Amino acid sequence: MTCEKCGEDGTDTILTPELIHYGKQVCAGCRKFEAWIPKPENHIFNAQNKIVAARDLLASMPDRTDETMLAEYHLKMAAAILRGVTAELVDG
Ligand SMILES: [Zn+2]
Repeated sequence: MTCEKCGEDGTDTILTPELIHYGKQVCAGCRKFEAWIPKPENHIFNAQNKIVAARDLLASMPDRTDETMLAEYHLKMAAAILRGVTAELVDG
């Protein structure tokens, strides 16, 4: 992302524990605000919702083909990875 104010390409992340947002991205050059960064828990929540939606979609498909079984496999792997990440966050 190129800053429209100073032309700098990089951004820095500043954590904002005092706010509801996890942190913010600012321009590495002039510190102009670029974007809010959601809490990691929100990313996990969104990912879980996507997995559930994909599972529902697969379950609604009448034919079990190689492709749907492969998709189910990848979903299982994604869910397992997500559980691991969640456990790490909870354990601190
Ligand atoms: Zn800038």
